[in-house]
Amino acid sequence: MTTICETVYHSVLSIPVRTLKCTRCAERFQGRQFYNQDTGWGLGDCCAGWMKSSTLEDVEATYGVDGVHYNLDPLARVYDLDTPGAFSTWRITQNVTDRWGEINENPDAQHLKGQLRSDPELLERLQCQMFEEDTFIVRKDGVWGVLFELEFCSRESEVNLDSPEENAKRPPRDLVIANLIADLLEMQGQFPGVHFTVPDPANIYEERPAVWAFVPDGLLEDPQREALARMLQSMSG
Ligand SMILES: [Zn+2]
Repeated sequence: MTTICETVYHSVLSIPVRTLKCTRCAERFQGRQFYNQDTGWGLGDCCAGWMKSSTLEDVEATYGVDGVHYNLDPLARVYDLDTPGAFSTWRITQNVTDRWGEINENPDAQHLKGQLRSDPELLERLQCQMFEEDTFIVRKDGVWGVLFELEFCSRESEVNLDSPEENAKRPPRDLVIANLIADLLEMQGQFPGVHFTVPDPANIYEERPAVWAFVPDGLLEDPQREALARMLQSMSG
């Protein structure tokens, strides 16, 4: 979907996100300045949906890229793997599909679901990159891909589901998270281009510790995807 190459893409992402005014209706929105627009102005999320009559190339040449300059993916709090104890953020749209690749019926992310529905080739290609029941179709920083999400139990996470005796045998959450981060730091060098993190447990069912691995569309061949999946599945927290 994104027509700019990887190197350009990363330099564009370094442009700070700020409040801009929509060039069509003057509403404020959060976006990145596009060089072809007056400073402080850009195509707002409010009006991006009205551009369907233009070709994607025309829209991108005039206004920039969906998910990069406007229609930014929402922020999710994640651990900063490089700074112990610190948090960072990912811009990621979750809840686009379920773990079987079906578009979710909930009202979130309608704009992206519309893109998938109108592009069956993209949807099918992404579905083919899913793995067992460990992945969802997502968009991160404007790039479609597949998110591995594996959950782990901690002493605190199962209080609604298991007995106090069983929970006492489980490691505390902070220890599970520290172990997951250490494992990800060790394995991330083996999968260049895959983005790894541990999300804030508040994002996860029963506040379980979890790992996320975002695989951009088309990055991995089947054997690499399987290797990644098996390595994530073998983590114990
Ligand atoms: Zn507008």
